[in-house]
Amino acid sequence: MHEWTIADNLVRLVGEAARKEGLTEVSEVYVKVGVLRQVIPETLKTAFSHLIGEIEFAGAELKIEKIPLAVKCRDCGSKKAGDDLAFTCGRCGGIDLEILAGDELYLDYLEGKGNGE
Ligand SMILES: [Zn+2]
Repeated sequence: MHEWTIADNLVRLVGEAARKEGLTEVSEVYVKVGVLRQVIPETLKTAFSHLIGEIEFAGAELKIEKIPLAVKCRDCGSKKAGDDLAFTCGRCGGIDLEILAGDELYLDYLEGKGNGE
């Protein structure tokens, strides 16, 4: 259940970002999550909606964008992308793969209302 730990961190980040941007209300929170994080979106949303209620932004909705895996073979240079988590190169069978995308986990941006708007 590492979703709760992730949600806890996200809520803290949302609080900090909202205060920095002078938001008094947060309606949507956009995050990017790579497939390698093996996050269950529904669990993360549930955890987030519980925890966000503990700070002043209850009701903010979590929007999760899944980032597919993209790797590059260090042996032959071939690239592949998708949800396939097989860690071998499709061309040469090499296992020395560089991860180009898929291990992201970050707060992208917030939608909300501030004092000045
Ligand atoms: Zn290769």
